[in-house]
Amino acid sequence: MSERILIGVAWPYADGPLHLGHIAGAYLPPDIFARYHRIKGDEVLMVSGSDQHGTPITIKAEQEGKKPGQIAAQYHQQFLDSWRKLGISFDLFTTTGTANHAEVSHDIFLTLLNKGYIYNSTMLQPFCPQCQRFLPDRYIEGTCPYCCSSEARGDQCDECGKPINPVELIDPHCRFCGAAPQFEHTEHFFLRLSAFRDALLAWVKQQTHWRKNVLNFTIRYLEEGLKDRAITRDIDWGVPVPLDGFGTKRLYVWFEAVIGYLSATKEWAKSSGDEEKWRSFWQGEAKSYYFIGKDNIAFHTIIWPAMLMGYGNLNLPYDVPANEFLTIEGKKLSTSRHWAVWLSDYLSRYDPDPLRYLLSINMPETGDTDFSWREFVRRNNDELVATYGNLVHRVLTFVYRSFDGCVPVPGEFDSRSQALLDKAEDTLKAMDGHLYRCQFKEAIRLAMSLAQETNRYLDEKSPWKIIEQNRQASATALYIAISVLSCLRIALYPFLPFSSQKLHEYLGFEGKVEDYGWKPNPPSPGQKLLPPKPLFSKLDEGLIEEETSVLGLPDS
Ligand SMILES: [Zn+2]
Ligand SMILES: [Zn+2]
Repeated sequence: MSERILIGVAWPYADGPLHLGHIAGAYLPPDIFARYHRIKGDEVLMVSGSDQHGTPITIKAEQEGKKPGQIAAQYHQQFLDSWRKLGISFDLFTTTGTANHAEVSHDIFLTLLNKGYIYNSTMLQPFCPQCQRFLPDRYIEGTCPYCCSSEARGDQCDECGKPINPVELIDPHCRFCGAAPQFEHTEHFFLRLSAFRDALLAWVKQQTHWRKNVLNFTIRYLEEGLKDRAITRDIDWGVPVPLDGFGTKRLYVWFEAVIGYLSATKEWAKSSGDEEKWRSFWQGEAKSYYFIGKDNIAFHTIIWPAMLMGYGNLNLPYDVPANEFLTIEGKKLSTSRHWAVWLSDYLSRYDPDPLRYLLSINMPETGDTDFSWREFVRRNNDELVATYGNLVHRVLTFVYRSFDGCVPVPGEFDSRSQALLDKAEDTLKAMDGHLYRCQFKEAIRLAMSLAQETNRYLDEKSPWKIIEQNRQASATALYIAISVLSCLRIALYPFLPFSSQKLHEYLGFEGKVEDYGWKPNPPSPGQKLLPPKPLFSKLDEGLIEEETSVLGLPDS
């Protein structure tokens, strides 16, 4: 029975380029998941967009002497280009700058206000006496009251992942001039999170299918109690407050950006020609998954669910498979220290699938993992090229040459051959279970182990050696190998879509891999093959030194 799957993906701030940490954390996993569900024939909607608001963008704009809108538009284009090159297959990647998003945000705001879940009150806000302005979220920095990290900001501590109110920061200072701010009263709207604490806790405790880190973090957080949070800010860049008298304030970006999942679905429905179609993903039988990095957990397991509960009649998250972090060459990724590998740099030099492979088999699912260029080259050369690529290439070139470019007609299968075909089918079944539960690393490991087993089978059968004496036995072994390759093109499609599509065509199949279903799909004997080319190329070890030497250096 087919399912309806809504995939919400973290909204990247349009204030800078994407790096590999973003990809491993929040962008590759949902793409794998979406492709897997699509090939199974499920109805999938994967949405996200660039977060155009918030102080990261205004800070960047001030630094570069541009308008916030210019910065946001520039990075939005870059994101779209990266998704295309890396094969991240959004059904819609929009922005929070649309009129539709403002309209949906206003509807949520006003409904929560009418129901008493939003109220206005005054709060102490940091005001910089030197700069003569209120300092919204990221304009103020200080020490985290929870974990004592000295790099906490007025909205959140990246070290322990907890949201923070500026007034809670220890030793706060203005990001621009370093002066200690004064706290002054200003009027703001608040989300009555405290009203949802018990309902959230009861709901979260039922989500036993969540990853342990996500579940435990959320329960701990709720058990400590839930404070109401301000949802407006004194700033002029963002979604306006839909009430008179608040012209100098905007909706706070954390409140407004999560609404993007709903507004993007509505935008997608409108452009599909059926404006009401959004309902099937939000009010009908559908599961919603949110793919995010671990620094975003609270917003997706507590704040957004509270907003949804308050609004009413909208599906709560089914799962929030947050990933841990990716370190680079053994060190914590840091954009300010230039300790990062930029996605656009990567894509300008290398193919997408080797990166997708490494980040899948080394995905930070349950703990941090490390990216190193040495590992990148090793995984590419020893696994992608030697185990999988060479298997494909030696089978297809030999068959193409020796069997008139057609899939050979097999004889009877011996038990060894049948066992390999069974293993291929079992691998697809086992991978299905893992992918369904968002266990991507284990799924791709199983596919690679099938490739290894096929290499062993071919070493035993040596179809290339026996073809002169026993053409039938050779044809049978090659037919079995081709059937497994056919299965691997399906199994690896969610992870390696570009090379899977190529293999699909070399095997003589038409159209897209995605249309063939999550099943072995052996080719028919006699099926015409296309002339094969290698799926992957070996990488020179020299690039390791070249790439690592520029880490930590400012961009030239
Ligand atoms: Zn902290
Ligand atoms: Zn200042």
